[in-house]
Amino acid sequence: MRMSKKHRLGAVITSAVMSVGTFMSVSTSTASAAGVSNYAQILQYSLYFYDANMCGDGVQSKCGLNWRGNCHTDDAVTGGFHDAGDHAMFGLPQGYTATALGLSYDQFKDAYQATGQTDHLKMITDYFCDFFRRSTELSGDSVSRFLSQKGDGDADHAYWGKPENQGAGRKMFWTSSGASDIAANYAAALALNYKNFGNAKDLQYAKALYNFEKRHNS
Ligand SMILES: [Zn+2]
Repeated sequence: MRMSKKHRLGAVITSAVMSVGTFMSVSTSTASAAGVSNYAQILQYSLYFYDANMCGDGVQSKCGLNWRGNCHTDDAVTGGFHDAGDHAMFGLPQGYTATALGLSYDQFKDAYQATGQTDHLKMITDYFCDFFRRSTELSGDSVSRFLSQKGDGDADHAYWGKPENQGAGRKMFWTSSGASDIAANYAAALALNYKNFGNAKDLQYAKALYNFEKRHNS
């Protein structure tokens, strides 16, 4: 059954806000009583959650929040997104989030376009996928190893400051034979971003990571 425009917009907002998780409170009391324009505003605001959590040397040029700056620029692989109000970066929530955002655009692109949010969504999913590609080392078409986590959780939780001041020396967690759940999430996110925006490199890495997770089911 075809959803009305209003219901489709509600569905895309739900999927975007679900990706945000429990770390952002969005009031629905006024939105439910008002017109479509407020739903558009909720979608717009929910996307800025990701701007707040951007990491790496592309923050200053891409982030829409002027109080954020580049951070963790000494990481062996820069980029990606902080994931939970701290700065350690786990592959599973990053891969899942990028997949959910890509799927929301795949399913509801007319709502993103009607509200003028396509460019913002694309900036975010491109930034995720650029990080996933640079986190993946290929030997031919095969993954030789990939980065599944940046930063040690305990060390990160002991630091109470802004990411821009955290400094160098973060631990990197690479695997050449495991974390197949993370590889599968990266593959899904990259495949969706290829389907949505057509970057052939995304498809190349999606295929390689998909084969890796089938080969190393652990
Ligand atoms: Zn950072």
